[in-house]
Amino acid sequence: MAINDAGERLKALDARHHLHPFTDFKQLGEQGSRIITGASGVYIHDADGQRILDGMAGLWCVNLGYDQPELVAAASQQMTQLPYYNTFFKTAHPPAIELAAELCRLAPEHINHVFFTGSGSEANDSMLRMVRRFWALKGKPEKQWIIARENGYHGSTVAGMSLGGMAPMHAQGGPCVPGITHIRQPYWFAEGRGKGSESPESDTHSRDDFGRLCAEALDARIQELGPDNVAAFLAEPVQGAGGAIMPPDSYWPAIKAVLAKYDILLVVDEVICGFGRLGEWFGSQHYDLKPDLMPIAKGLSSGYLPIGGVLVGDRVADTLIEEGGEFFHGFTYSGHPVCAAVALKTLEIMQREDIVTRVRDDLGPYLASRWATLADHPLVGEARSLGLMGALELVADKASGERFATSLAVGNLCRDICFETGLVMRSVGDTMIISPPLVITHEQIDALVSLARAALDETARQLASHAAT
Ligand code: PMP
Repeated sequence: MAINDAGERLKALDARHHLHPFTDFKQLGEQGSRIITGASGVYIHDADGQRILDGMAGLWCVNLGYDQPELVAAASQQMTQLPYYNTFFKTAHPPAIELAAELCRLAPEHINHVFFTGSGSEANDSMLRMVRRFWALKGKPEKQWIIARENGYHGSTVAGMSLGGMAPMHAQGGPCVPGITHIRQPYWFAEGRGKGSESPESDTHSRDDFGRLCAEALDARIQELGPDNVAAFLAEPVQGAGGAIMPPDSYWPAIKAVLAKYDILLVVDEVICGFGRLGEWFGSQHYDLKPDLMPIAKGLSSGYLPIGGVLVGDRVADTLIEEGGEFFHGFTYSGHPVCAAVALKTLEIMQREDIVTRVRDDLGPYLASRWATLADHPLVGEARSLGLMGALELVADKASGERFATSLAVGNLCRDICFETGLVMRSVGDTMIISPPLVITHEQIDALVSLARAALDETARQLASHAAT
């Protein structure tokens, strides 16, 4: 069968039988999907024979790129040795044990335990149950409230979406898990810029004011709920799915100052920022945070197999262990041996190749310098990046920063054009985001930025011809 015939057959079957995540089923049925048939390095290949630079590392996870034979070998070897066994009922197996030890060695000093899950959503579910159990064991069962943030993302399970602050998700499949509340996000471009600052030239000043204002919202919410009723504050170091939102420099220090006043746990969701994305092993280290718990997933296995977990700091772990009593929680695939073996190999490769340092000292600064060149494009209101994560804010008017009408769906238009141009760049509203594999080269970063500019040009051209008709 010719390549296109095979592709057409798959597209038809996909439309007929397959319900995709985060998808308008009706629209996809009409438009059809792109079938990805292979990948190598930082490129994916589709059924039409196109090679596309994966600026998103899959879903922020394929940090080591698509052709790491050692990960394949680790999986195959473990499949042969012990394809499955669980970690319930006082059993364990070498990959889960070795991975737990290695993760704790790499994690900040005060973190010495891990609870394994199959995904980032399960990691956040597990975290929620663990936090509430911790306070119950401390004799403070009334400490139930989790304060998270609007437009944060913590997963798609019922607890994950309740912890997340995505309004459209809350509107479907509710009611949400009780005892979760959301405060404003430190999204300067969308919510701080031009508000509360009289002088545009004092940009930095207004960003920092805004960061402090967002931290005050945490203090106010704690007061409102009563500090004795609040269990934890949950946040991503940099919001990923919300739009690659790097908070103003003032934000995390101000949040830390608020938390220091109260007896409340800090949970930092490292599902995206963990494992080198921001140029440190964990995003918390970039912002000098000392979380009590850190949900992890994605880059842990470079996305090759599904695995996640919660890194549990001594304060919580010691109580859970010393107080005893069964924790009625866990998954069939908690610490799955094949996934754990691949994760262990991922961590080994990352250390051997010194990937985290390379992101911090070389690739991150290089991307920042190249990405910033896009700021001169007429459609771009802001170009920002940190480590190997970046965003472009698309605007209708560069001077005022005015957005396009939502009905134009300019972000989606640009995303679709990117795909045609040969680049995966994701859209969140009119924010374009990238998070490429951590093994990307300088030349590939140059290619990514050129493809992004070409896609922006084509988006502007189509918008202009749309306006003219
Ligand atoms: N937390 C964060 C910060 C995430 O970005 C994601 C996934 N994008 C999740 C949790 C959920 O992870 P998963 O899709 O593996 O359940």
